[in-house]
This record gives sequence, structure tokens and C-alpha cells, in this order.
Amino acid sequence: MKIFNSHPPPPFLGGQGKKLKKKKKKKKKKKKKIKNKKFNIPPPPPTKKKLANMKALVLDEYKQLNYRDFEEPKIEPNEVLIRVKACGICGSDVHGMDGSTGRRKPPIVMGHEASGVIEKVGNEVIGWQIGDRVTFDSTIYPLDDWYTRKGHYNLSDNRKVLGVSPGEYRKHGAFAEFVTVPAHILYKIPDNVSFEQAAMVEPVGVAAHAVNISKIQPGQSALVVGAGMVGMFVINMLNIAGANPVIAIDLDENKLRLAKEFGATHSFKSTEDNLSEKVKELTKNRGADFGFEVVGINETVNICINSLRKGGTAVLVGNLKPEVTIPLQKIVTTELSLLGSCAINGEYEMVLDLLSSGKINVDKMISAVAPLSKEPIGLTGFTIKNPG
Ligand SMILES: [Zn+2]
Repeated sequence: MKIFNSHPPPPFLGGQGKKLKKKKKKKKKKKKKIKNKKFNIPPPPPTKKKLANMKALVLDEYKQLNYRDFEEPKIEPNEVLIRVKACGICGSDVHGMDGSTGRRKPPIVMGHEASGVIEKVGNEVIGWQIGDRVTFDSTIYPLDDWYTRKGHYNLSDNRKVLGVSPGEYRKHGAFAEFVTVPAHILYKIPDNVSFEQAAMVEPVGVAAHAVNISKIQPGQSALVVGAGMVGMFVINMLNIAGANPVIAIDLDENKLRLAKEFGATHSFKSTEDNLSEKVKELTKNRGADFGFEVVGINETVNICINSLRKGGTAVLVGNLKPEVTIPLQKIVTTELSLLGSCAINGEYEMVLDLLSSGKINVDKMISAVAPLSKEPIGLTGFTIKNPG
């Protein structure tokens, strides 16, 4: 059985296309001048489109990424233009770019875990300045929505995810020099947090949201099934929340070792026999108060549910499979609660503060940093054309 998280350790993409762009522009200019002299034609007025080009890593076809010129996004009055400094490669990008999820319909600039500096500010934007270091929500949610007004913007109708094109919409993301987002999804990056660290806020936020909605209390026990990136941060957040014991389960022994560094008190391989009995032994022979499922396949969902005490709660974060089979009678007869956890609902600020104060260590989860123009590690196995 495979246990993995939908968010593999992310390589990073830095916006280093700028230098290349400048060089190319200069070359173009020279060529034009020569041409014009020859034919004695006055130089044409620069067209807006040509001026507003940037470099981007574009998914032009499934499994085909091209690093190329792309029209720079224009800002609406309520938006800012951000010069991207770092962007994480999410598992959903990896799964999306081969067409398997149907949520990255080409052409699309992917990337939703990013940070950068404000380059332009729309005329209706208040409180943000050019030069501000920012990160932003991966979800663009409408403010005039029933769910948003109820405090659940993560569930709002017509929300759009950056760098996603499922069919109903196409919102280009941050695998590019520039990205535009509405000002209401911005967060300021504390001075002692780097752009790379800030690009990790999104996956930490997903974990923080799951722990938040569980309402776990200090001293309560928790099981985390799946120690991928989000699972690892769930363990970290559970530790901050005072959960004890925190039991990690994964297929990969290296991940389990790392899970201990992130605060897991115990760990088990998912292939071990009698897992639920082992969890019981660690939880006063009752089973865990909470189980966090961060994979989303049949086996792991069942490990999670079967390791809970009566009246326990399973927080379901992973959803690799759209459907799984659950032990209905156990859920009914032991009054279990199943709680779905979707994305992030305002946890950004808290996560940035935790990062700033050193309570969360995202550096351990950054496996590589590469320029946008290079074939990004982690997206290998796909055809990537890289003219730069
Ligand atoms: Zn993501």
C-alpha cells in the first residue's frame, strides 16, 4: 500500500527570467534600428502588447511546459501586480499537468503558493504600497458572497484558485514573472521571513485550518495518517496546539523519522499489523481522540477511522480519490464525527506569525530551489521545453 501526501516536498521556482528578458529586448531593439535605417522608415510606436510581455512557464499542452513570453496580466482597480519572487510546486500542479485531474486545462500558467513584491497598485486599493513584500491566499474569493459573510470564504461560491483552469474559469498563476491578485487576499510578509519561506505558508495554512476546525484541546490524542508535506505541518500544528500523544503513520520510514522532528511522539509504518491496537495502547486503551487523514485513499481513510476512540473525530484533509469505502457501522455505532477540511480560511496571518517566531520550520520541507527558466525538479518525467 502506498501512503503519500498529495503535496510532495516542493522544489522552488524563483523569478529569474528578468535578466534574460532584458538581454533579449536589447538585442531586439538593435535589430529594429538597423532595419529602420535600411528602409528609412520611422520606428513604429511600441504596441502595448509587446511592452507588456513577461516570461512565464506555460502549460501549453498536457505534459508540455514551455518557458516563454507571455502577456503580462493587467490589473483591475481592486488588484495589485506582484513581481513573483518564489513559488512552490504543489502536488496538485504535478497531478494537474498531465490532465488527470482536469483542473489545469491548457493553456495555463500554474502556481498558487507564492510570494513577491508589489509592483503596481490598482486605483481602488487601500493600504498597500509598491514595494510591499507579500504573500497571498491561493483562493480568490468574492467578498459579496453568503459564505464569505458567514466567515467561510473557503466555501464561497465562485471562488477561483490561482493557476487553475477547470473549465468554468482560467486564472493564471505564479509560475511567471508577474501575477495579479485582488488586494483583499494579500498578507504582509514579516521582515525576518524569506520569500521562499513565505511561499510555504499555503501548505502550512492547509494544515493549520485542519487543526483549527478540529478544536482539539491540549492533552488530547491525535493520529496523523500520511506524513507528506501537509501531514508534516499538521503534526507541527498539533504540537503547537498541545496535543499528546501525536502518532504519525506513513509508508515511508524517512518521512516517519522527519515526523518525529516535527513533533510526532510515536510513529508506525502503515503496513504494520494491528495498527489500531497499537494506537489503543498509546491512548489509554481507548483509541485516538482525533485522526487527521492527509492522503485520501481507501486504506488510509480506514486506518484513520479504525484507530479512533468512541465518539472520536476524523478530520479528512486528503482527497486523492474522489470516493472511498468507509466502515459505516463502526461510524454509526461508535458515534464518530467525520469532518472535511477544505483549504484555508484565514489562517495565513497566524502561520506567518508562527513562521516569524520560529515555531514552524518550513526550511526542512524545501527540497530544492531552481530558477523558473530551468527545468524544475519535481516536474521531471514531463516534457519541458526550456529555450532559456
Ligand atoms: Zn497547493
